[in-house]
Amino acid sequence: MMARVVVVGSLNMDLVIRSPHIPQPGETIIGADFQTLPGGKGANQAVAAARLGASVQMVGRVGQDAFAAALLGNLDAAGVDGRFIIQDREAPTGVALIVVDDSGQNSIVVASGANMRLTSMDIEAAESAIAEADVLLLQLESPLVTVSRAAAIAHAHGVRVVLNPAPAHPLPADLLTLVDVLIPNESETTLLTGMPTSTQAEAEAASAALRKSGVDTVILTLGERGALLDSATGLQLVPAFDVTPVDTTAAGDAFVGGFAVALAEGRDLLEAVRWGNAAGALATTRLGAQPSLPDRASVEALLAQGTTEIRIRR
Ligand code: ADP
Repeated sequence: MMARVVVVGSLNMDLVIRSPHIPQPGETIIGADFQTLPGGKGANQAVAAARLGASVQMVGRVGQDAFAAALLGNLDAAGVDGRFIIQDREAPTGVALIVVDDSGQNSIVVASGANMRLTSMDIEAAESAIAEADVLLLQLESPLVTVSRAAAIAHAHGVRVVLNPAPAHPLPADLLTLVDVLIPNESETTLLTGMPTSTQAEAEAASAALRKSGVDTVILTLGERGALLDSATGLQLVPAFDVTPVDTTAAGDAFVGGFAVALAEGRDLLEAVRWGNAAGALATTRLGAQPSLPDRASVEALLAQGTTEIRIRR
């Protein structure tokens, strides 16, 4: 049977420009290659999981504009079930303005629009789907109260809750106790803990602080350094795959999607992190968010090359 993943989160239209560098305040730069691409962390993670072979349902809100039609059509084409996505009559579809520089770094501003009008009632309408899922995936581009409601429903049905706390925002203690796996990147980790993550020792201390706040398993994504898995069974640095990045947009979304699918398929945490690393690495080798998300065959091929995890202690 296919692994089932429900994603509660955002859908945005990404308006992407390539630029020689990220503009300073007041600066105007002539860029190139303008593209309109489906995005939003929720939709990206839903597509990431679907492309890796999971059965995926998404819960979210868009407007009633042209971007909404394009986003819904895109999810449908990717094989994501969008029956729980509501078209808001008052708010526009979310958009993200993205600048990508020549080194592959990006800078992003999001206007959330309908995404921030997702309600607890919208989640309750999808309770049966959440109850039947293997994994519930959450991010923070939706109202915190709605995210908490989704986590509570999944938790009550024994469904594992994976939270990618992006964009970074302080988290209430009661939400953290409902989360099985927390997956922050370095800047999110620093915002949540007030601690740096540049060295291995710093990353370990920060993940320990997050686990103390009530989460069973913490996975810090560390870009080209890979990911630090910190769970009840130990602490492991899982090195990144060696690739040449073109655009790091959606590396985190690809990681989370890959991790969630592997977990939903019954793989252990370490194997699921390797799936996340493979999907994340492949996503950096192509421009854009969803267009860069890898298929299952590419991830399996990269995984077959193998990496050895470094067991740090225990
Ligand atoms: P975000 O995209 O949220 O900033 P990261 O930069 O930590 O998150 O990237 C997420 C994951 O993608 C990493 O844990 C790693 O597995 C993979 N990844 C990111 N950048 C690279 C890279 N340069 N080379 C290989 N893998 C990468």
